[in-house]
Amino acid sequence: MRLLLLAPPGAGKGTQGERLAAWSGVRHIAAGDLLRAEARAGDRLGREIAAYQDRGDLVPDQIVLDVLTPVVTEAAARGGYILDGFPRTLPQAIAAAELAARLGVTVHAAVYLHAPEAVLTQRLLDRASQGGRSDDTADVIRHRLQVFAETTGPLVPYYTERGILVAVDADQPPDSVTADIQTRLAGLTRAAGR
Ligand code: AMP
Repeated sequence: MRLLLLAPPGAGKGTQGERLAAWSGVRHIAAGDLLRAEARAGDRLGREIAAYQDRGDLVPDQIVLDVLTPVVTEAAARGGYILDGFPRTLPQAIAAAELAARLGVTVHAAVYLHAPEAVLTQRLLDRASQGGRSDDTADVIRHRLQVFAETTGPLVPYYTERGILVAVDADQPPDSVTADIQTRLAGLTRAAGR
């Protein structure tokens, strides 16, 4: 199983990514988590990554690719991956397609979790009030949603044109979202087997 999870902040891609990985037995690769781990190293690269993350800006494509490529390559060799939060830009999507081609694999689906902006904002503010992340402040949340709309949003038509977009309503309880994704993926597998 090789899946991409495409979702604005607050849509629940971390939760769904973990569940889908457990369900399908492949590795959950969360781009944001890997970059936060690099940032914690505290060296020059780490400090640079932390600065982008704290502002809610995207980390430059080349840094993201340097961090993600070895992890994706290893996961592909072990049976697949749920890629959560990567790609987030068109150049990253092109690089991801080139990497998959190099590895001799294809991606089965790009799962797009969508919810109204007011719902996403409220969820992130709730997470902030429970101790959340350093980028869960009102201003940075607004900026992250804007970055998604402007830079990551164009990947929705990109994967639609490639016939692999699976859009799921994320404005439901987490169990319902998981069930919807699983139903849609099972449908895809059946269609591919026909
Ligand atoms: P996330 O944990 O997915 O909400 O990501 C948190 C932050 O990590 C984002 O606001 C970006 O600063 C950075 N980030 C995560 N994934 C990417 C990516 N694919 N490209 C660039 N920056 C990313």
